Amino acid sequence: MTGAYLPGNSTVQLRELEVPEPGHGEVLLRMKASTICGSDIRCIYHEHLGKGPEGYQGVVAGHEPSGQIIKTGPGCRRFRGGDRVIVYHISGCGLCNDCRRGYMISCTSEKYRRAYGWQRDGGMAEFLLAEEKDLIHLPDELTYADGAQVACGFGTVYEGLEKIGISGNDAVLITGLGPVGLATGALCRKLGAQRIVGIDVLDERMQLAMDLGLCDEVLHSGPDNVAEVRRLTGGHGVERAVDCSANDFARATAIRATRKWGRIVFLGEGGKVEFNPSPDMIHDQKTIHGSWVTSTWLMEELVERLVRWNLHPADLVTHRFSLDRAADAYALMASGKCGKVAVCFDEELAAV
Ligand SMILES: [Zn+2]
Ligand SMILES: [Zn+2]
Repeated sequence: MTGAYLPGNSTVQLRELEVPEPGHGEVLLRMKASTICGSDIRCIYHEHLGKGPEGYQGVVAGHEPSGQIIKTGPGCRRFRGGDRVIVYHISGCGLCNDCRRGYMISCTSEKYRRAYGWQRDGGMAEFLLAEEKDLIHLPDELTYADGAQVACGFGTVYEGLEKIGISGNDAVLITGLGPVGLATGALCRKLGAQRIVGIDVLDERMQLAMDLGLCDEVLHSGPDNVAEVRRLTGGHGVERAVDCSANDFARATAIRATRKWGRIVFLGEGGKVEFNPSPDMIHDQKTIHGSWVTSTWLMEELVERLVRWNLHPADLVTHRFSLDRAADAYALMASGKCGKVAVCFDEELAAV
């Protein structure tokens, strides 16, 4: 089979490798959709910057996989051949406290914690070897491209939104309108938010957020953003803010444009932020949350709710590529001039 690797210096290498054989508790998936994440670009594609959980160990890339089981190894207890699944993208030891909470992302076992596409082979190949315990059932109502986005982006956003709580009471500010910001808009809508303001630097992304109906107002990033957001919210600021940019200026805007008693969650990774705790946070009784990926149980609940809400994450996919064009897919994602970019197989490649 063919697999895509990311050697650094903004290139993609296709290599031939053996189709793996599922061992005990493992399954072999026929890959159907594998989306590209901002973290793939930030930590791997340009150069290998990540360390620890973000250290890329020269494996098949892709940590947002969704596919169909074609073979199960001995000892599988729940899933079987033909099942459609999402792969929760970190395989943990299963026994540490974090794994027992379902947060394999935070697994503390140095030996057994391995993320797909980082430390073990990921979804940018025709077949993927996965552990049964990492699988989330994909309902028939959702496509594989929907599922791929749940594996990382939508799961991560939903976790963050659950931490701060979103309802029809809230005006929401989203700083950064890349795929994670767009997912935030889509989920906030379904959770009832009627007033969503987005900020970005790229016109293409601002336009996409408006075209998809995920923001009510979009602002070009600038020094007046706090005043502009206040003006759009009766002078008070938003009740909730979600940073998806990882930009220091945008993070400070998210904090300052949030009203008294408001809540902010940081999802964007890397970088710094500078703010003044007393006026920006303490005196206004605000809470800032950090949120990293999600748990397997919340991912299962998200999938159920996507069906209930008739929300299709694949609507954010603006470009689909076959595996042999993976280089074009990563280059486009790195440009930022797109929504979500997916490498697809079989029926998902034909889907529009
Ligand atoms: Zn990701
Ligand atoms: Zn663990």
